[in-house]
Amino acid sequence: MVSPEDYYEVVAAELDRYAKVPDEVLLEIVTRDGACMWLRANEDGPEWEDEEITDRDAAARLCADCPIRGVCLELELRTAGENTVGVWGGLSQEDRRQVFQAWRARREGGETS
Ligand code: SF4
Repeated sequence: MVSPEDYYEVVAAELDRYAKVPDEVLLEIVTRDGACMWLRANEDGPEWEDEEITDRDAAARLCADCPIRGVCLELELRTAGENTVGVWGGLSQEDRRQVFQAWRARREGGETS
């Protein structure tokens, strides 16, 4: 069974492929291809918006079919870092803050080259 720490490390390692992609390219991809962008643009909430669900469940539902979750997560970790809030990259803010610790350690340790 994978421990939470191992899971966060695996997610952070999967983002290495985006390490050299400029911020503006990531932003363009998320804005163009993000599955949630039509919701944000049209101010229509999803049908389950009024249900009492956890942040983690919301992330799972909102991002389930999104083809650019890794790009979204990379961008959010770069721009918001440990202050990330809400649902981005298919993860709850709690999970993203844990991934951020592993992600930052990898980047500072030069493990992406
Ligand atoms: S991963 Fe989630 S929050 Fe990010 S663009 Fe896709 S649907 Fe939106």
